[in-house]
This record gives sequence, structure tokens and C-alpha cells, in this order.
Amino acid sequence: MDTQYRLLITLQTIDQRIFKLREQQRQAPERMTAIEAPVLKARKQLQAAQETGQALAKQKRSSEQELGSQEEHIRKLRGRMSELKTNKEYQAHLFEIDLAKKKKDELEEAVLMVMENVERNEQVIKQYESALQEAERVCEQEKARLALQTATAEQELAALEKEREEITRQLDPELLARYDKIKTMRKGVAVTPVRDGACTGCRIQLPPQLVAEVKRGDALLSCSYCHRILYWEGVSEDAQNTVAVAPGSDVLSDAGST
Ligand SMILES: [Zn+2]
Repeated sequence: MDTQYRLLITLQTIDQRIFKLREQQRQAPERMTAIEAPVLKARKQLQAAQETGQALAKQKRSSEQELGSQEEHIRKLRGRMSELKTNKEYQAHLFEIDLAKKKKDELEEAVLMVMENVERNEQVIKQYESALQEAERVCEQEKARLALQTATAEQELAALEKEREEITRQLDPELLARYDKIKTMRKGVAVTPVRDGACTGCRIQLPPQLVAEVKRGDALLSCSYCHRILYWEGVSEDAQNTVAVAPGSDVLSDAGST
């Protein structure tokens, strides 16, 4: 009976690990999306700044054109000075030139402002470019890590499936069927220890008679409430020891500590 218990507990440990690994594999596409998200964001930011740059360049060209035609306008006004006859005409013309100059000053101001904006935006573009580079670098790293993790998990899964097969071959088929049924019903935990007189699966207090029977380990008994297969905790420790500690290592560690 002890062997069957141990096999069951080991089977459950394997199944839980398989479940965890499959869950991890299932989430891989989601993780990939999360890994790529910063790159997409950085690319969008850069694209927006580049579009702003194009708009600013267009704005700069048109302000410069406007300034150019205003300068041309002033030149023409000045050229007409000699054609003027009366003082009144002359004064009016000077006034017109003055207005045109003021307009030209404003246009110059506008050109300067656009140029400043262009420069500032170029800085922003540079920042976004390096942010994108960094995001791409991190993304590649994370992708490689995810790929490695996926490959490792696949290997581990294959090994676990094989181990599972070996264990199920040694298990009593009826017991295995019982285990599988409870596992499906109880979210992966079908075998659970008794602790302080209670089932650790559902925490219900068990009748002392049942606890005593579980401790004796004559039969594979179930919790009357959640139907999980119960075992005495000592069994699990033995099982763990058999797995984790190689024969003779106790002696070695004892010798080392003295
Ligand atoms: Zn229970």
C-alpha cells in the first residue's frame, strides 16, 4: 500500500508540474505580445515625431516663402520712390514701407520660431530613435529568453510525460482512474495529507476513526467531504526522501558536520 501511496504522491507532483508548464506554454503568445509592446509604442512615438517634423518643414518653407515675397514687396516699394512727385505722396509711401517692414519683422519672427520648433523636434526624434533602439534590444533579449524557456519547458514536459507513463504503469488501474477523476474534480489535487486530524484539501475535521485508519495505511481512504485520497504525512516525507536523497548521503553529511 505504501508503494501505491508514494506512486500517487509522485504522480500528483508530476501532474502539477505538467499543469504549470502547460499553463506557462499557453501564456507564451500573451507574453510575446507583452514583450513586443514597448517596441510598438516606441515606434509609434518616433513615427509621430517624424510626422511632426514633416509638418514643421512644410511650415518652415511656407513662412520662408512668405518672408521672401514680403522682402520683394519692400524692394518694389523702395524702387517706386523716384516716381513720387509730391511731398504728401512721399509721406504716404514712407508710411506704406514702414508698415511693410513691420509685417516683414513679424514674418521673420515666425520663421525663427518655426526653426526653433524644427530643432526641438529633431532633438525629440533623436531621443525617440535611441529609445526605440533600446526597446528593440530589450525585446530581442526577452524573446531569446522566452524561446529558451519554451524549449526547456518542452524538454521537461517530454521527460515528465515519460515519467508519468512509467508511474501509471505501476499503479493499480482502478486507483489511477479514481485519482484522475478526483484530480479533474478538485483542480489538480487528488491526494492530500491529513494534518491535525483534518483533510488538508478541504480543511474539514475528519472522524478520529478515519484518521487512525489513514495513519495505519491499510487502505487508500478518501475524505468524506471532498473525496480526495488521504495519506499520513510521514508517507510523503519518506517519498520525498527517496527522491531527493541518494543512499548513503545521510552518512556523508553526518560525517561532514562532525
Ligand atoms: Zn477533504
